[in-house]
Amino acid sequence: SLSAHVSGSAAVPALPEPLPVLGLDVPAPLVTGGELPYAALDYAASAPVLRSVWDEVAAYAPYYGSVHRGAGYLSQHSTALFERSRATVARFLGCREGDEVVFTRSTTDSLNLLASALPAGTRVFVFETEHHAALLPWQSAGATTVFLDAPRSPREAVETLESALSAAPDGPKLVCVTGASNVTGEIWPVRGLAATAHRYGARIVLDAAQLVPHRPVHIGELGVDWVAFSGHKLYAPFGAGVLAGRTDWLHAAEPYLAGGGASRKVARGTDGGVEVEWQSGPARHEAGSPNMIGAYAVASACRALSEAGFARLEAREVELTRRLLAGLDEVPQVEVLSLFGDDEGTGTGSRAEARAACRVGVVSFVVAGWNSSHLAAALSAEYGIGVRDGLFCAHPLVGALLGAGGGDTGGCGAPEGQSLNAVRVSLGAGTPEEH
Ligand code: PLP
Repeated sequence: SLSAHVSGSAAVPALPEPLPVLGLDVPAPLVTGGELPYAALDYAASAPVLRSVWDEVAAYAPYYGSVHRGAGYLSQHSTALFERSRATVARFLGCREGDEVVFTRSTTDSLNLLASALPAGTRVFVFETEHHAALLPWQSAGATTVFLDAPRSPREAVETLESALSAAPDGPKLVCVTGASNVTGEIWPVRGLAATAHRYGARIVLDAAQLVPHRPVHIGELGVDWVAFSGHKLYAPFGAGVLAGRTDWLHAAEPYLAGGGASRKVARGTDGGVEVEWQSGPARHEAGSPNMIGAYAVASACRALSEAGFARLEAREVELTRRLLAGLDEVPQVEVLSLFGDDEGTGTGSRAEARAACRVGVVSFVVAGWNSSHLAAALSAEYGIGVRDGLFCAHPLVGALLGAGGGDTGGCGAPEGQSLNAVRVSLGAGTPEEH
């Protein structure tokens, strides 16, 4: 039945009883023909949807109606829930007076939306360690991307940004940084980077895709201008994301998508073209019928996590991450990938404790002499453990960490017998202690 599972011919597994962790019910499927409980250790890619989120969406389903497009009861109800979802997300992110929440499809979509709204001539500063969603949109939108070298400590990250900004010519500037790396799990010094950006007149957007499921993200306290995240990493279904923050650039820009909902007034122009007056507010960048269910589910997940309490979630996750790292430390062939490694292990606790404290529950590693893809396939087929292998949409970072240099994903630089990719284990609210 193990090979049947791998070949995809195994029966679809039944869902066992839910697994409540701090009040969060995360469905835990059985796989491999029902013999093994599935250990879902790939939360960084997509987290399972909370049962409470499914339940709320199911309870809403009979009242499904178009948003901002109807006079009937169902439409009015759906419109009210959509706008209430926006307010819930704004509260969850600690939005300031005047900030707004735009519903998008994902983090990738949010960052592309912001890229489309940059003032002409903007220079965008990004560390080469970023996920491709944070590296690529700027150049594609016509901005100048300034790559910053991978820093080897949080302090070096702030210093690197400072020296790049101090040498930059006048003009609009944006810094894009991750809250937590999707490869190493390490938490970035967001407050220090935001303060530095602002000291040099730059704006800053936080790619919170990996941070927001694990730590409180408060725009005001972090001092960032925008936050982007995806619902599917926050225990909600696929298809909805968020860009939250300042409105001036967004309202001055052409709509991200042209169409109904984004337009206030449309007429045939005297020259034969179209005359259009665009909306201000989030509607400007939400053309077309919105993903009502997605927005509602994201808000539901935000509420569930707030109720569970990030302090308790974090304490539990740090302990599980410590155990994971301590276990990996026992295998001499394992190398855990770390960018800020030099800063680790300096406290009074164990090395694993120090490493767990500066990470969200995301750990990538290589095993000497092993191909990471084979290892990940074996973990799935033989043990029912679902992890990710590869380059994690962060080619320059993984290249630098594995010694390939400069984002080269080819065959150079890796130790003999070593693949140029890694295995990533990522934990979340549904990870049981016994994993
Ligand atoms: N940023 C980071 C740090 C990520 O880990 C991811 C997804 O893995 C993204 C951005 C892109 O998220 P999405 O694929 O939901 O757009």
